Amino acid sequence: MAMTDDLLSLFRAAKPLSDKPFIVSAGGRVLTYGGLDALSARQANVLVELGVAPGDRVAVQVEKSAEAIALYIACLRAGAVYLPLNTAYTLAELDYFIGDAEPRLVVCAPERAEGVAELAARHGAAALTLGVDGLTGSLATRAAKASAAFADVARGPGDLAAILYTSGTTGRSKGAMLTQRNLASNAVALRDAWRFTTDDVLLHALPIFHTHGLFVASNVVLAAGATMIFLPRLDPDQVFRFLPQATAMMGVPTFYTRLLQDPRLNREATAHVRLFVSGSAPLLADTHRQWSERTGHAVLERYGMTETNINTSNPYDGDRVPGLVGPPLPGIELRVTDPETGRPLAAGEIGMIEVRGPNVFPGYWRMPDKTAAEFRADGFFITGDLGTIDARGYVQIVGRGKDLVISGGYNVYPKEIETELDALPGVVESAVIGVPHPDFGEGVTAVLTVRPGAEVSEADVLASLKQRLANYKLPKRVLVVDELPRNAMGKVQKNLLRDAYRDLYTG
Ligand code: AMP
Repeated sequence: MAMTDDLLSLFRAAKPLSDKPFIVSAGGRVLTYGGLDALSARQANVLVELGVAPGDRVAVQVEKSAEAIALYIACLRAGAVYLPLNTAYTLAELDYFIGDAEPRLVVCAPERAEGVAELAARHGAAALTLGVDGLTGSLATRAAKASAAFADVARGPGDLAAILYTSGTTGRSKGAMLTQRNLASNAVALRDAWRFTTDDVLLHALPIFHTHGLFVASNVVLAAGATMIFLPRLDPDQVFRFLPQATAMMGVPTFYTRLLQDPRLNREATAHVRLFVSGSAPLLADTHRQWSERTGHAVLERYGMTETNINTSNPYDGDRVPGLVGPPLPGIELRVTDPETGRPLAAGEIGMIEVRGPNVFPGYWRMPDKTAAEFRADGFFITGDLGTIDARGYVQIVGRGKDLVISGGYNVYPKEIETELDALPGVVESAVIGVPHPDFGEGVTAVLTVRPGAEVSEADVLASLKQRLANYKLPKRVLVVDELPRNAMGKVQKNLLRDAYRDLYTG
């Protein structure tokens, strides 16, 4: 299966005619496959001129553009390791990443040129800029003058293609190393599972510094020789303008909840689309059902993480079950174990999700101890997600291990209580957290958002839950807020809630 072992061979095998659009920007600018070839060659020549050698890291903090994706390809062609960084990171945060990853080159937005140049110089790296339009900045200027011919550097399946820093909520963010095989094998698995072909047009509104928008979306499109429409962010006006040209959309759950609030969402608006995919955070079963009712499409939910790419997916043909993330993809093994002992558990039992396969990363950059602690001796990666597998082999995510609440010595799984809360009239969504409690160690605490005008009282909520849940699982407090805190990928940030309410029972 040499074809799936490295990204450039995979993309080259799928490459359509050179005038076929690869990326169409919202403003109408088109980068064709032929254009991608030429542009990435020019950029690769600039990288080499600056001393980027195979294995060197290239750190990239730029706005989303076709040229930024071309830079990812340029890094692959030069044998470099692509290191995208969240555009929200401050200079102080960049200092950590650049000190840790020691890139040869840093590419940033022109607005940050000064600060980044100083920082890069201090760490012995060169610095270039790339503007939000993809056409301005020193990288663009130099690339325009460089040769459009480049001899690609050969890479093996175990060579690094990228490092992605995880959005660590505790301690320092860790650099997940991703090999050619990790990314290529997953691109093929997803392309085939989701039936992507050269005829597909993906509506792309995700950021490209995260595994979802970068690898899941872009690698699948490249592996199929398909086309993407690039929107800078989820803007409903733009989504409804481009949906009639799209055959697929990949989103985080907040995309779906936001579009559901728009009166334009209906069967007609989504008639040209064959597939809606959701991931990166749990899609509420209710959102899945509402989407089906309004559009006739069952959203396909899948589960993955930076360290493993995508592990499981609901089927293309067959039941896409609300609230479940589907069975493991072909070639990927997934098991649920006792978090303490590592002993495999029976179907239906809740425990730690562990995965093994060509998709699983080899470890964290320069953190051998951290890496060793997160792998079992037989090669399974301990994901940190708690879940269960049903009799049909479908996986359900119950939450992050660190979100488990231990109250009075009992394990309380937030998801179980959240599911009950979400089903109550007037409740939009909920987050259940553990907060220090003088008697129980941690007190189960529910934070809710409610529909406009809904009367949801703490006493009523507790009275309803009491009929359905054991006493030890009942929240000690139920708090209503306007909005749950989320990160760029739409994940609810429970660490922020735990901080906000840390003195609730002890203050
Ligand atoms: P990241 O590395 O930022 O992609 O975050 C990965 C984490 O997101 C996983 O470990 C899960 O906790 C969560 N996640 C991703 N997809 C899903 C999903 N479909 N349902 C629930 N949680 C998910």
